[in-house]
Amino acid sequence: MKILKERILSDGRCFPGGILKVDNFINHQMDPVLMREMAKELVKRFSSHPINKVITIEASGIAPAIMVGDYLNVPVLFAKKKVPSTMENMLVTEVYSFTKERSYTVCVSGDYLSKEDHVLFIDDFLANGNAAIGILDLVQQAGGTVEGMGFLIEKGFQHGGDELRKRGIHVESLAIIESLDNCTIKIRE
Ligand code: 5GP
Repeated sequence: MKILKERILSDGRCFPGGILKVDNFINHQMDPVLMREMAKELVKRFSSHPINKVITIEASGIAPAIMVGDYLNVPVLFAKKKVPSTMENMLVTEVYSFTKERSYTVCVSGDYLSKEDHVLFIDDFLANGNAAIGILDLVQQAGGTVEGMGFLIEKGFQHGGDELRKRGIHVESLAIIESLDNCTIKIRE
């Protein structure tokens, strides 16, 4: 998506270890106009799927997910990274965090995820695919169907996207980063 690619090139910053910071328009300060355009594009790309729920992981997936949910007019469920003592009917999985270099427990209430659900997973970044595979596990535990997975930015040099596509999942990414070598951002055409 052209406007996102241009914005990454103008405002994104590289950090050692293959990390891209987009803190001034996605991950800290947010640009709602760009976010709305990105959500609209994701909705278009998944228009052939019967989606009745959007799912994401807190915290940075919530902003794009709620905009997608608004366009689709469906509820948006976010998986929680802390297990609340009051949650009933809980579904739980483990996710390894690439940026934080540790595993954490992710949960949703089975009250909000069931076999009736046809889910679109939305997140800001796709790197190794651990968050996405954790969500797939939660939806499968609930007996639901993952209709697709949409990301704002995919890091193509990490291989989560390959793994998800190999599993037959419809994956869409609005910008694919080819490499961050030598702290230079290269985006796939
Ligand atoms: P994965 O689970 O696919 O390995 O990593 C995806 C998650 O890690 C995303 O939810 C995102 O929050 C975080 N992440 C991975 N790589 C980056 C990165 O280069 N920059 C930022 N800002 N977040 C990242």
